[in-house]
This record gives sequence, structure tokens and C-alpha cells, in this order.
Amino acid sequence: MMRLANCLIGGIERPAINGGTFPVYAPDSQQQIGQAAKGQADDIKAAVAVGRAGFESWSGLAVGERERILLRAADIFESEGKNRFESLLIDESGSTIAKAGYEINYTPSLFRTAAGEARRLYGDTFPNDNPARLSFVLREPLGVVGVISPYNAPLALLAKMVAFPLAAGNTVVIKPSEETPFIACEFAKILLEAGLPPNAISVVPGLGAEAGASLVSHKDVDSIALTGSTATGVHIGAQGMANMKRMQLELGGKNALIVFADFDVDEAAQIAADGIFVHAGQICMANSRIIVEAEIYDEFLAAFKAKAESLSLGNLRDPKTAYGPLINQRAVDKVQDQIAKAVNAGAKIVTGGKIVRGLTLAPTILTDVPRDSAAWCEESFGPVANVVPAKDFDDAIKIANDSVYGLSAGVLTCDVTKGFLAARRIKVGSVHIGMHPFQSNALAPIGGYKMSGIGKSGGHFSTHEFTNLKWISLETGQP
Ligand code: NAD
Repeated sequence: MMRLANCLIGGIERPAINGGTFPVYAPDSQQQIGQAAKGQADDIKAAVAVGRAGFESWSGLAVGERERILLRAADIFESEGKNRFESLLIDESGSTIAKAGYEINYTPSLFRTAAGEARRLYGDTFPNDNPARLSFVLREPLGVVGVISPYNAPLALLAKMVAFPLAAGNTVVIKPSEETPFIACEFAKILLEAGLPPNAISVVPGLGAEAGASLVSHKDVDSIALTGSTATGVHIGAQGMANMKRMQLELGGKNALIVFADFDVDEAAQIAADGIFVHAGQICMANSRIIVEAEIYDEFLAAFKAKAESLSLGNLRDPKTAYGPLINQRAVDKVQDQIAKAVNAGAKIVTGGKIVRGLTLAPTILTDVPRDSAAWCEESFGPVANVVPAKDFDDAIKIANDSVYGLSAGVLTCDVTKGFLAARRIKVGSVHIGMHPFQSNALAPIGGYKMSGIGKSGGHFSTHEFTNLKWISLETGQP
């Protein structure tokens, strides 16, 4: 069945104003599964106008009502998520059934957490040298938030990027990844079914350089939330700042997992494999750099190789399947190019490096990767792990920090003090001790240091991103 993703603006589904469309492919079969409206500046303009018109009534609604709508959405995602998103996640984004289940289960918890935030728009008061004057700080929503989402976790990340701005009283215009427009449209329909006013949410499918760029440059958009690559973040960050928009940018990573010698080697190999091969490495927090204390390096490498080679890469609907395809041929070419250049420069392939079928790459382990090669320096967003020995604690930290990125890290040790010391010294937005770096929690401040982004999302950290503070003072005339 060929699907169609139209623009959804003010509750009305319609094609792009100029009638343009683009094809959407299933990464696993590489067959076309439908087409989407190719939104342009006019479509964005219409969606932003609707969002602006809806802002006062949505932000003025009693918090209990906003909370109720978001909780109702959570209930629908919980009861109907499997039916409405499982196949889409498998077909449109190449998820395994397990990864689809993870997104489907996480989404209601994001909405429930955001619903709670609707009541927590805390302000402040402070004293004045003149006791006749009172000072209040009010927390206010920003207005229209443009949400630009990626393809890799197209349901859960969209939920996070939309639920919190809505809870704070903003309206949203979504420009979903061109790879996953159907999921975004289905997502918005659930919010409408939950009672969200139609002018509080719009979806304009389209290309980044067209619909996305129009959203970023639109003067009536108050904030842009992007989850995407660092290259896109740098580009649109500069554009957004030209209009003084608030920018929340969650970008790429090249995350380290440090394995210290006191940790069980087999368990470390399992954690490392889970942390890099999940969704074929198309996870911003995947541990693509594994730093192993020298005395257990050989033993770890052998165990990790065995784990990688035992992964099943079959049917995406088989719960035993570890991961599926990369999103498109461009992504495969990029990863293969990185591997080839690293090998030419002296890297060794311990296992993998080849296509298994279609767009699916074998689990790949590299050693001796030159530190100036793209395979070490740049995000691969594929099932590729660099393994490197470290002489000691200080050397391990130095290697972990040898990256322009700073998203997340994992530290495997049984020594809590050592874990904490490492956590303090690694320059990243989150560190997980006894775990791999890919961890999520609806309350946690997710976001990067360095080139991994600006701003945080999750719980009240999102509330801060999508609100502004206003100082109001009052002359009472009486001390
Ligand atoms: P991408 O940067 O290619 O695209 C992301 C979104 O930006 C898409 O909707 C795209 O259409 C849009 N876009 C592209 N160019 C644009 C432009 N000029 N103006 C406006 N919009 C534009 O990223 P992707 O390939 O979809 O996603 C993978 C990337 O996302 C990886 O780098 C990954 O690390 C990152 N990511 C980060 C996090 C995080 O929490 N930090 C989470 C998931 C993914």
C-alpha cells in the first residue's frame, strides 16, 4: 500500500501549495512505500500563521486543561501505539521490532512527564533596596516553536521535542525528517484526537534546505528545536541567531566507553556491543570509541569480536534480530568511505566492514585507527566501533576527551570512586557508570557539551529552554 503524508495545518490535511511531492523509501526493502508533500516557504508561512493565531488561547488555557490533554495523548500513545506505529517504525525507519517497542513504550512516559511540567512554570520573587517596591519574575512561554526532527528515533524524539514546548504553553510547527514523514503525521493526529486545539500543532513535511530553512528564517518563529547532525546545527544555529531566536540544538556524538581492568570482561563486551550495535549505530549516544585498559585489551577484543559475530541480522520483525539497515545509500557510502580511508591509513578490521545485504552493514570493529582519520574524528552513525588501548586512568580520560564532540560517555568499573573521578573529568553532557552511554530518562537533562549542541531537553530543563523570564516590579508606595 502506498502511503501519503500531507501537510497538516490547523487540523486540515492538504497537499503542498505548489503540489510538489517527494518519494519515501523503506530502508530494508529499498522499495518506495509512499510519498510526502514537499512543503515550501508558503506552506511554512501558513503553518506559522496558524501557530501564532493559536498561541494566546493555548498559552492562556488553565494548566490543568493543558495537563489533561497531554495525559490523554499519553493514554492514546500507550493503548494504540503498537497498532499505529510499530509497522511504520519498521518500514519507514528500518527499526527492529525491539527498537520500535522501545520508542513506543518511551513515548507515553515523555508525555506524562511533560504534563507534570505544565504545572511547574515556577517564577521567583526577590527583595528590593526600596522596601516599597515588590519584584516578581514570571515564566512565560516563547510563542511558536519550530521543531526540526531526525530520522533515527522518529517517534520518541519527536515526542520529546513537542510535548515539553506544548506543556509550557507554546504552539509548535513540525518539519520532520524527510525520511520519516508518515510517523510525524500520525503522531500529530494523536495529539488532535487527545483534544489539542488544531492551531497548536502543524506538520509540514519537506526537505531540510527548503521547508526546514524556511522555518528557521521565518521571523514569527520564536524558537527552533533541532535534533540532528552537528553540520546542520552549526548551519541553522547561525541563521537562527540572525533573528535572535532561542535555539535548542541536540547534535551528533562520538561517544567513549571506557573499560577499566577491574570490570568483568565478558559483561563489558556485552555492554559495549549493546551500546554500539543498537539500531546499527544510528544512535547519537552510541559508543563508537571503546577505550580499554591495556592489561585486559586482548581479552576484551576477543570477547567483543565474539559478541559482534554472534549478532543475528535477519528479519526486522524477528525479536532476535539485533539491527537492520542504515537509512539510505548515502549513509552506507559515508560509513564505507570512512572505513576504507582508515584502513588505507593503517587501521585494521577485526571483524565486519562489509555489506550483509541491501543497506545492512556487518558489525564492524576497527583497531589502530589513526587519530586524524574521519573514522576516529567524525560521527559514523553506523555499526562501527573503534577499540583502542589505554595505558592507565589518565591516558583513558585523555583519549575519551580527544573529540570535538561531547555528548555522552560510559565508564565500566567496579570502583565507584574511580567511576566518579572519570565522570568529573570527561567533557560530555552525561556519564553513565557501569553502563554504556546510550541512556534515556524523561527527567534527565539530555544535551551535549562542545560540538554536540546547545541547551538541554527533558523534565524542567526543557521547560527552561522553551520559556522566557520576565521581571515585573510594583511600586506600592508603602514600606
Ligand atoms: P540531519 O542533520 O541530516 O537532519 C535533521 C533534520 O534537519 C531533518 O529534519 C532535516 O531535514 C533538517 N535539515 C537539514 N538541513 C537543514 C537546513 N539547512 N535547514 C533546516 N533544516 C535542515 O540529521 P539526521 O541525519 O536526520 O539525524 C542524524 C543526526 O542526528 C546524527 O548526527 C545524530 O547524532 C543526531 N541526533 C542527535 C541526538 C541528540 O540527542 N543529541 C538524538 C538523535 C539524533
